Amino acid sequence: MFLRELSSPVSELPGCGPALVKRLSRLGVFRAADLLLLPPRDYEDRAALRLLSAFGSGPVNCPVNVLAHDWFGFGRMRTLKVWVEDDEGTRAALVCFNRPFLEKSLPVGARLRLFGRFEWRFGELQSSAFDAERVDTGDAFRPAGVLPVYPLTEGLGQASVRKLVRKALELWGRVDDELPHGVIQKRSLARMADALRLLHRPASPDDAALARRTLAYTELFYLQIMIGRRSLARREEARPTGSVDTRLACVLEERLPFSLTEGQKAALADIAADMAGPWPMARLLQGDVGSGKTLVAFMAALYAIAGGGQAAIMAPTELLARQHADTAARLLEPLGVRLAFLSGNVADAARKPLLSALASGDIDLVVGTHALFSADVVFRTLRLVVVDEQHRFGVLQRLAMGSKGSRPDMLMMSATPIPRTLALTVYGDLAVSTITTLPPGRLPVITHLARMGNEAKVYDFVRRELEAGRRAYFVYPLVDRSDRVELKDAVAMYERLSREVFPEFKGGIIHSRVPEADKRATMADFAAGKLSFLVATSVVEVGVDVPEASCMVIEHAERFGLAALHQLRGRVGRGKEQSYCFLVWSDGLGDEGKRRVMAMKDTTDGFLIAEEDLRMRGPGQITGTGQSGQLELSFADPVRDAELLEAAREDAQAILAEDPGLLGADGSVIRAVLERASPFAERTAATG
Ligand code: ADP
Ligand code: MG
Repeated sequence: MFLRELSSPVSELPGCGPALVKRLSRLGVFRAADLLLLPPRDYEDRAALRLLSAFGSGPVNCPVNVLAHDWFGFGRMRTLKVWVEDDEGTRAALVCFNRPFLEKSLPVGARLRLFGRFEWRFGELQSSAFDAERVDTGDAFRPAGVLPVYPLTEGLGQASVRKLVRKALELWGRVDDELPHGVIQKRSLARMADALRLLHRPASPDDAALARRTLAYTELFYLQIMIGRRSLARREEARPTGSVDTRLACVLEERLPFSLTEGQKAALADIAADMAGPWPMARLLQGDVGSGKTLVAFMAALYAIAGGGQAAIMAPTELLARQHADTAARLLEPLGVRLAFLSGNVADAARKPLLSALASGDIDLVVGTHALFSADVVFRTLRLVVVDEQHRFGVLQRLAMGSKGSRPDMLMMSATPIPRTLALTVYGDLAVSTITTLPPGRLPVITHLARMGNEAKVYDFVRRELEAGRRAYFVYPLVDRSDRVELKDAVAMYERLSREVFPEFKGGIIHSRVPEADKRATMADFAAGKLSFLVATSVVEVGVDVPEASCMVIEHAERFGLAALHQLRGRVGRGKEQSYCFLVWSDGLGDEGKRRVMAMKDTTDGFLIAEEDLRMRGPGQITGTGQSGQLELSFADPVRDAELLEAAREDAQAILAEDPGLLGADGSVIRAVLERASPFAERTAATG
């Protein structure tokens, strides 16, 4: 049995009744495998003795004697305080909130083994979060080893989780290895059954580290195996090489009111070479917000279409997909390109003829949301798939897209750059083009910070911009009051801005609960200048392109992540005018929030911001591995575990190079895991 095959419900554990099952479910634990893989968030090293006097350097861990009991507070608040003294003579108080029963179990005169963090409060050394246990042997202090500390949820204490995990290990812990034996040895990893034991019952911190390393490596190894198999599949049969037909693209280029930037030209040269090459393209196009990636995507689509193929452009939100479709209508329809739009909101009546037109080849370019990849969307000759803002999609979702049609060329686009090594390892065989040049004449956005309470000054500034005929965005973290009271929300602020602050200007509002048709109309009015300001939630975050907008006001800026702030700021500074971004922060600004807001003020460079984001947020979010849903990295972190990732990549590639069909002894283990253990299974093949 492989670990991830263990699908017995946790209720099969002795003593795990419905109440416990419910609480465990809040931790995401439903099945045996979930419990065995529940990562401890920390370990308490109870092997090392630490006396009360050393409380400042870590949790106290020593034997003590109970000197006296004390009570304070009244009625239901009446609380027991147990005075203890260690062998050095240091005294401290154990404050027993909600634990009156300790009066009996920790009687005066008893000798205890004590573990807990202490602090100096109200003139005494105190702890209210401690473990204490009577030791009957008097002097002998037996250390209890290293204890895992699990994430908890209401009604589920540390001791219960430890007990459950221990039972689970006894019942289900004898699992098979998921890694080839040679790899386990070569990388000095533990066998899977041992890794589980060491994870939950380590004798030393080194044990726990070995367990974590093994589990992280296993995740990364399978990620690399899947990526490697995809790229092998991509190269299965070479196609005839030649050159792309650039005629349509040249016509578009001539009609543009500007010329392409060097970065755009270089990216297009890479793309043209790939599209003419023997294998389907798999390329990541990186370029900061406003660098003009959309146009590159359109030109690539024209290469495909001129060659008699179809192209699909996919965006993560309906708003962005609509905008791309509108731009395509403006730029490409005059060239004779037959265009369609598809999202989950396209009604059945319109959807049917659209699907048949796609299948018969009567549509050249379809722009849409992930609805494009539902199983009933069939193409006649899909040559190119463009995924805009690709970091919004999971790794495996992206891999799945390549299986649509007869191995189309894939172009992923992202404004969230990732370090090159990470790109190569996480994205496997993706080639990378980077646009580093912004279109000429762009002025860097000037960012101002303002404290909540000083918004009036910000509004005055914006008013002058609006009077000069420019436009402004106002972004809030919430849709309306029902979400949470202490924050400003879009609906209320729309009312206030329209009535009190800018009564002389017309504004609009969009957020997730506005119907798509209204969103679209509002966006169109804002783009056309019929509306001067737009109040929104982060729905305007990705891709929205209105060059006349010169002000971005983000209130409660501390509520937004760094990548989101950068994306939002990227909505301005797209025209020739100087643009401004105002980050209005409120008192809830913590250290993290402060660092984010400062980072935004300090730089407009997307690469620097992405690095900072990586440091602050962890890479899972950024690479999409964290949210792939199918292969979750619960132990591995592609940045922190960069070395492990390299090792896993090397091993996976070596195995695939020697045994692409996974038929040999090592390969058969891998194949069995892929086939039987569902979270690793290549369900992507089924979605494609
Ligand atoms: P992003 O890379 O963020 O997706 P867009 O494709 O939305 O950027 O482009 C931003 C704006 O720059 C658009 O209004 C687009 O028309 C304009 N643009 C694109 N390429 C150029 C260029 N070479 N010169 C001038 N403006 C350009
Ligand atoms: Mg874009």
